[in-house]
Amino acid sequence: MTPTSHLPRIPGRRFLHSPGPTPVPDEVLWAMSRQPMDLGDPRLARTIAACEQGLKQVLQTEAGEVFLYASNGHGVWEAVVENLLPLGGLALVPGTGHFSESWAVQTEALGRRVLRTPWVPRQPIDVDAVAQALRDDKAREIAAVFVVHTDTSSGVTSDLAALRAAIDATGHPALFVVDVVASLGAAPFAMDALRADVVVGASQKGLMCPPGVGFVGVNARAMEIARGNPAPRYYWDWVRRASDLSYRKFCGTAPQTLIAGLEVALGLLLREGLEAVFERHCRLAGAVHAAVQAWSSAGALGFYAEQPASRSISVTTVTVPPGTDVDALRAVARERFQVAFAGALGPLAGTAFRIGHLGDQNPASILGCLAGIEAALDACGVPFGRDGVARAVAALALD
Ligand SMILES: *Cc1c(COP(=O)(O)O)cnc(C)c1O
Repeated sequence: MTPTSHLPRIPGRRFLHSPGPTPVPDEVLWAMSRQPMDLGDPRLARTIAACEQGLKQVLQTEAGEVFLYASNGHGVWEAVVENLLPLGGLALVPGTGHFSESWAVQTEALGRRVLRTPWVPRQPIDVDAVAQALRDDKAREIAAVFVVHTDTSSGVTSDLAALRAAIDATGHPALFVVDVVASLGAAPFAMDALRADVVVGASQKGLMCPPGVGFVGVNARAMEIARGNPAPRYYWDWVRRASDLSYRKFCGTAPQTLIAGLEVALGLLLREGLEAVFERHCRLAGAVHAAVQAWSSAGALGFYAEQPASRSISVTTVTVPPGTDVDALRAVARERFQVAFAGALGPLAGTAFRIGHLGDQNPASILGCLAGIEAALDACGVPFGRDGVARAVAALALD
């Protein structure tokens, strides 16, 4: 079989509504269709500098340094662990679901210890439990709190300001490390104002790029701790990467094609304006929520996130009746109606599906997605309240 030539062309666009990867704007695709450069080409240094500068603006930090990696989000999780924690060091990981647990397991696999606060299904982080764990840590062993802002599996967003305030109130010096992989470029976030010490992100969700670039924002306090951390590391090491030379910054050859796209994607976000980007995501999430509310009136489908205020602006997790074949539903939506959405992960697998509404989305793409899902639900015989799309239209028309 010749590679890909047997695949039929799909007329129009297939709508991509996974919560990452997300659709890539044409301008970003164009920027990536250029030849590689030699490592001394000044255009390469300019592209890297523009990405660093653009990310600082999107993270809303002036104090923090940005390090970019040829990696996915799991890679930057590893970077955080290796730079901040000595071997045997302790991190507190508040339970949010699949993603907090994955980060905790990865941290333990790297020879560090993890204290977890329980994940309460359908709820955001239990802030009181976090504060209690810090107060109980009389020996000040906890070096960092690793917080997932939006858990992409549950579709629940936690209140970072409340967590920051709770940590402050305990007087505990633990670093505040925040994973914004699923929320950056969709939900309001400001690293300096929040006093987050380290922020973790990746290219393929709100930042509208293909997967393959991870990054961290690191403030001076976290950098100081990394400098004093004796744990062995090389590729992920912030100290080694703090250099003006691109070959040092990336610990080898930079992923030139991807960062050429990232430079343009950051420019698109900043040109639209971060406030306008948040407002657009808010409107689109409102339309999705209106549709899910209507679907749930037949009693079979429902919101996974119980509290409306904790429902993510990026992704909505929708529960299905027992016995529903979510993968079959997704296949029908994808192959017959050209709408791709996600299944659920970890403990929620098979019990829910997920609609991504972050990144390069607009009212037409959201209405198309919701209509395609209704068509697939109908085709698969899953009962749902009928006027989901109509309610989404009404929500958008009202705004
Ligand atoms: C997607 C995601 C990750 C992992 O990113 P990968 O690129 O898949 O490794 C980590 N944290 C959150 C919150 C995510 O949504």
